Amino acid sequence: MIDLHLHTTASDGQYSPREVMLRAKKMGATSVAVTDHDTTTGIQEARQTAEELGLEFFPGIEISAAEEAELHILGYGIASDAPSVQALCQNGSEERKKRTEKLLRFLQNKGIPITLEDVKRVNDGKTSGRPHFARTLVDLGVVSSVSEAFDQYLTTPEYYETVERKKPTAQTGIRAICQAGGVAVLAHPYLLHKSSEELEQLIQELIPYGLQGIEVYYSKHGAEERKFYLSLAKRYGLLVTCGSDFHGEAVKPEIEICRGIGNNLCFCDETMTENLRKAIKKQKASQNCT
Ligand code: AMP
Ligand code: ZN
Ligand code: FE
Ligand code: FE
Repeated sequence: MIDLHLHTTASDGQYSPREVMLRAKKMGATSVAVTDHDTTTGIQEARQTAEELGLEFFPGIEISAAEEAELHILGYGIASDAPSVQALCQNGSEERKKRTEKLLRFLQNKGIPITLEDVKRVNDGKTSGRPHFARTLVDLGVVSSVSEAFDQYLTTPEYYETVERKKPTAQTGIRAICQAGGVAVLAHPYLLHKSSEELEQLIQELIPYGLQGIEVYYSKHGAEERKFYLSLAKRYGLLVTCGSDFHGEAVKPEIEICRGIGNNLCFCDETMTENLRKAIKKQKASQNCT
């Protein structure tokens, strides 16, 4: 089984890279990718554990792009120390620090007695993502679930207007992945909430930047979506990938590695990883980036 979209404590996941690999093995995974948000710091530990467990491992990343709220680009096969990717990660980390300050003030101004110390109990003082804040709000008894925290505070128009951090454009993200010898894939198209026409238009815009694939199989994609994304992949000659977006039950309680939600990821086969391996090899050989 294949799962090419996993988060660890290197970003906003609940489990360490080693724990995620152990759980993947337990769930029957044969090929995995760690795709933390805007960081590569989990890759080494994950790779080492994957090797111990006999799992095929793709070093990955998930880059948030500026144009839309959930426009995320997955990068596979990246050299994690490549300057292009490290520059993006460095910038992302600085922007996240600034956002943490703003988000604390935003919540405090709403009368919530939340401090940096409270958040540090959840993220060990490391990189801070919105899920860390959501979990802190649950711990403080402000909301009863992570999804309530997102609905009430972390995805509101006011949040996006006044708190959200600066992000690189999709073009910059794709180029950085490409320059690091990686293959860029559009993550969870469903979360963009676009019409079929709008999504097709976006894909037409991203392909010239170097986009090579689309995450057709995803925990939140139903049969209709899978069918449409698959048709886009065929029409534009894109790679097809499969990922759960596992973060651990404290963040996304319904999502399991390799299973997605209620076993809806079980459509992936060896051809997928074979094609991805070939594309990565070709990318590394050509070094051709826009
Ligand atoms: P950030 O990159 O720190 O802005 O946080 C983005 C993360 O928040 C992504 O992993 C999303 O999957 C997660 N996220 C967004 N909306 C929700 C939600 N309603 N429930 C749980 N996680 C969410
Ligand atoms: Zn996340
Ligand atoms: Fe994402
Ligand atoms: Fe993700």
